[in-house]
Amino acid sequence: MPTEIIQWFPGHMAKTRRLMAENIKLVDAVIEIIDARIPYSSHNPEIMKLVENKPVITLLNKASLADPDKTQAFVKKYTQNNRICIATDCVTGEGINKIAPAIRELLAEKLKRYEEKGMAGRKLKAMVVGIPNVGKSSLINRISGNKKAKVENRPGVTLNKQWVTTSIGIDLLDMPGVLWPKFDDATVGENLAFTGAIRDQILDTEEIAMLLAGRLAKTAPRELCERYKLDEDEIADLDCYDLFRLIGKKRGFLISGGEVDTERMAKILLDEFRGSKLGRFTLELPE
Ligand code: GDP
Repeated sequence: MPTEIIQWFPGHMAKTRRLMAENIKLVDAVIEIIDARIPYSSHNPEIMKLVENKPVITLLNKASLADPDKTQAFVKKYTQNNRICIATDCVTGEGINKIAPAIRELLAEKLKRYEEKGMAGRKLKAMVVGIPNVGKSSLINRISGNKKAKVENRPGVTLNKQWVTTSIGIDLLDMPGVLWPKFDDATVGENLAFTGAIRDQILDTEEIAMLLAGRLAKTAPRELCERYKLDEDEIADLDCYDLFRLIGKKRGFLISGGEVDTERMAKILLDEFRGSKLGRFTLELPE
């Protein structure tokens, strides 16, 4: 990972950590949004340490872009103890109506106590956390029914906390999206870059696209070859640099002198992967 990413996040992380620590007492539950395509890489362990004692509902969001079988396996894996996991999609609406019942299920005992005290109508509150670009604003817009949160296909738009009233009877506290200060595993950084959780502006997009081509050649050669009219035998021994250039050549993205326009090809490959034009992929396996 380029060093600027590692240097860019600590301040933001510290600020969010403080915001969460100050506000966690105000909520009944936490809605953790992760990306169904990269459930491990999009789960921020540092942030989740702060909410240890609260019931957590985990949304595997962007499920329409991920491999459905793997999503189901992750749902099973993450539904345990004080935690319920649901596959959701803020564009198709999948799973959204399961959120409120799941929160009520997690808080059943508390709700019973409220009822006994004659406070049955008391509103529930939940904190929404997740890395940048995972769909926090989209979820809030989807269930608030009005355009309160700003949605942009650019990480890091939500900067401060805000309370949002929703149509599902649960008030939401939106937290800034945050990544962690360093990635122990290079694959985590790559996955976050592939899916768009890290701003393209601070990445070398050509390097990221090249790595993505290499990853797809290993994990989904058939889909890669189909999309870019390649031959599986032809790409078997290529390193990711040569593979990426071959894809550019097949697409006819050439500049003067017959060189491949790698900048243009990088943008196209990342856009097409993120838009699931190559298929629905989950880059990680539920162990
Ligand atoms: P935030 O930074 O976590 O608030 O993320 P946003 O809600 O701003 O979403 C970032 C980008 O992802 C936007 O382009 C959204 O349209 C897109 N997005 C969010 N949720 C989903 C989803 O469930 N499915 C798909 N396909 N795209 C989504």
